[in-house]
Amino acid sequence: MYKSVIVGTGPAGLTAAIYLARANMNPLVIEGPEPGGQLTTTTEIENFPGFPEGIMGPELMDNIRKQAERFGAEFYTGWVNKVDLSDRPFKLQVEGKGEIATETLIISTGASAKYLGIPNEQENIGRGVSTCATCDGFFFRNKELIVVGGGDTALEEANFLTRFASKVTLVHRRDELRASKIMQDRARANPKIEWALNKTPLEVIASDRGVTGLKVQNNITGKEEVFDTNGVFVAIGHHPNTDFLEGQIMTDANGYIITTSGSSETTISGVFACGDVQDSRYRQAITAAGSGAMAAMDSEKFMESHEH
Ligand code: NDP
Repeated sequence: MYKSVIVGTGPAGLTAAIYLARANMNPLVIEGPEPGGQLTTTTEIENFPGFPEGIMGPELMDNIRKQAERFGAEFYTGWVNKVDLSDRPFKLQVEGKGEIATETLIISTGASAKYLGIPNEQENIGRGVSTCATCDGFFFRNKELIVVGGGDTALEEANFLTRFASKVTLVHRRDELRASKIMQDRARANPKIEWALNKTPLEVIASDRGVTGLKVQNNITGKEEVFDTNGVFVAIGHHPNTDFLEGQIMTDANGYIITTSGSSETTISGVFACGDVQDSRYRQAITAAGSGAMAAMDSEKFMESHEH
């Protein structure tokens, strides 16, 4: 029986682990398929306070993990296949470990980028298909790129990529953008961005050397067209990793866990959520880390009030 279990090891989960380990809650931290979370797929992080020269994403995560280990957090790598949150102690079925029981649970499983699901997309991840401009933009100096999507992320990525690329074409399936006005204005004022609206991506075109184009359907004429490009950045949103909860916790329409404003409490007493799994808005390493500290303090307080 654990006092606290943390599922997910991005900045939120690992920060919660530091706090709980220091509070003698002996947390078990379960690492999923992407240990360290999205930051391990990035390169340099320049906006995490405390690193005036910047720090590489994997190194930052490794440091935070070591910090949690130093205070005695226990780590286990494996899928959480099933949870039973109907009663305390909560029960988790963990791959290779069987059933574990815990008094409090912190969910910090993050969110994963969505893909288009078109031919040749998955095969070319890392060979021209990317979901992270910050991570991969650097590799496309003076190249032509495509960004797919019409939301804030797509426009932010497109703007960012113009630092490297000679041209960025924004491909969006409708003629109207979902992005906020300020992001639209900024993108429209950027001379390196071209617009390909009303175009639905059909297939990534690639050779042995990587991506060479994107086939799209023109939604007005119905005709297919190919845009030549060196890279396709897919920016069509994120999917919060809450499937394993099987609807036991209340989420919003997009699947993000609902927490009480100003706290990490979920709709189940004793279950807390932090990081991107409950935040579709800020999605920063530092905000995730901050919410991890909140979740740890909330679960510590919960234990205190239930022990006495
Ligand atoms: P959004 O859900 O806002 O936008 C996703 C976009 O991708 C939409 O334009 C959608 O098209 C398109 N899309 C979705 N699925 C497909 C598909 N299968 N094929 C083609 N296109 C598709 O996600 P974002 O990640 O852009 O934003 C998420 C949240 O984060 C928002 O609340 C946003 O405001 C916020 N955010 C804020 C930022 C900031 O303020 N600086 C920066 C980044 C994000 P359609 O419009 O037709 O549905």
